Amino acid sequence: MADIKNRLTTTAGAPVGDNQNSITIGPRGPLLLQDYQLIEKLAHQNRERIPERVVHAKGWGAFGTLTVTSTEVTQYTNAKLFNEVGKKTDLLLRFSTVAGEQGAADAERDVRGFSFKFYTEDGNWDLVGNNTPIFFVRDPYKFPDFIRTQKRHPRTNLRSPTAMWDFWSLSPESVHQVTILFSDRGLPVGPQYMNGYGSHTFSFWNDAGERYWCKFHFKTQQGHKHYTNEEAAEVIGKSRESYQEELYGAIHEGRFPKWTMYVQVMTQEQAKHTSYNPFDLTKVWPHSEFPLIEVGEIELNKNPENYFAQVEQAAFSPSNVVKGIGFSPDKMLQGRIFSYADAHRYRLGAHYEALPVNQPKAPVAHYHKDGLLRFFADNGNPDAYYEPNSFDGPAQDPSYNEPPMEVEGIAKRWEQPVGDDDFVQPRALWTMFSDEQKGRLYHNLAAAMHGIPDFIIERQLGHFAKVDPAYAQGVRDALATLDKSEEDRETHKDVDRMAMTEPHKNTEAEAPKFEGAK
Ligand code: NDP
Repeated sequence: MADIKNRLTTTAGAPVGDNQNSITIGPRGPLLLQDYQLIEKLAHQNRERIPERVVHAKGWGAFGTLTVTSTEVTQYTNAKLFNEVGKKTDLLLRFSTVAGEQGAADAERDVRGFSFKFYTEDGNWDLVGNNTPIFFVRDPYKFPDFIRTQKRHPRTNLRSPTAMWDFWSLSPESVHQVTILFSDRGLPVGPQYMNGYGSHTFSFWNDAGERYWCKFHFKTQQGHKHYTNEEAAEVIGKSRESYQEELYGAIHEGRFPKWTMYVQVMTQEQAKHTSYNPFDLTKVWPHSEFPLIEVGEIELNKNPENYFAQVEQAAFSPSNVVKGIGFSPDKMLQGRIFSYADAHRYRLGAHYEALPVNQPKAPVAHYHKDGLLRFFADNGNPDAYYEPNSFDGPAQDPSYNEPPMEVEGIAKRWEQPVGDDDFVQPRALWTMFSDEQKGRLYHNLAAAMHGIPDFIIERQLGHFAKVDPAYAQGVRDALATLDKSEEDRETHKDVDRMAMTEPHKNTEAEAPKFEGAK
């Protein structure tokens, strides 16, 4: 007889007598519908998956701490997690690729997500960034279309280099991020070997009610390590889970990955005079103008005990800020404030923040009621179920009010002026690369573009030329080398090109009719 603590039960808690043999009429069957535990078992299996994230589906995560090493930043922010040297705040950090589905290989060239949940004493602060300080687009209108180009073509069900380069070449603001993606840092060896960035411009505010603009940086203490395309192909041939192996293995063996956390700070007055829009997600703030201020050290030291419960169900949203940290006019940030929380409502349900991994360590007291999976109780005060009330229910605390945010201008759809603005910073980056780094950049770009229609290649080379004519020439030469090599023909790209460029068959006369269509 099994020990009571180790006894198998139904989900309703009744001990199970037999978990091997179904109830049948005679030893040969058939089954009886009343074998409810069998039905329960099969039904549960059918429900084991939840919708994967549309973006950043493949991820790796671990728990750890932020330890404050300098309080210089406290002149700008009263956020409690920064207020004392030596102070520790628990955190969850999830890394991810952007485009690949949940089963995609880890060592693929792609931007990496770099998402924190800091469990602070004032509630959860989520900093949902990437391993790049910038992004491909600056307006959330373009985000769903951009992501569509990274996913499967509706007809071929293949990823489409033609669509990717068509979109990028029609969106010149992407050339900065494209340059990072196809440089060495676009394919790190593992999560430990890359920097993280909050990417957006956020704000700090202090007890005096002053607001400052800020950006967050996390520099790897393990050093940068990257794969070439060829090395990555070999790795993927052996293991599709190389990042999970790297991260889980390092923490398991006590080699705890660390990053140094920094911020850049800009005054509201300075923001009026920069040559670039400091709220544009395709731009960095040069370090020479806005130096990095040290904040603390991030250490990952605990692997999740259950991947699904603690990483797959982890819900990060830039909408989660705490006292002392605020938003900025950054359009992409504003868009994500809505869309991330909404993704979690859809994937996990209305009460996703009450799941253990998302639950703040600070006390929670709100009036959001009921709905699917309302599994938490009232705050011991069932009469206070609306607000304001006279029954001692949770009430607002004005000391947590943010100072006003200064904005100016008229509301309209502002088109970005065409000029050198999109090329200045990629030029600074390209200039920083050594000849060897430039060579690998050209090779990686050519490998990704080779085989797509020529008119798209020419349009994209036009953008590289605006960064620097030598950049465009380098990619052109690398493409010519590939053209000569029959071995580099890729069936996938042939199919993609045919699908994207053959005349559309869905004319009025030939369009397939779906059942019910008139
Ligand atoms: P700096 O020389 O002061 O800073 C260079 C920054 O670039 C450092 O953060 C460094 O990170 C990072 N970097 C170094 N090599 C590469 C690489 N191969 N790929 C991507 N990033 C790299 O220059 P600026 O601040 O004036 O910026 C120049 C350009 O550097 C920018 O246009 C931008 O493209 C890029 N960059 C700038 C960042 C910023 O916040 N200012 C952040 C990251 C990139 P590390 O110290 O870890 O080596």
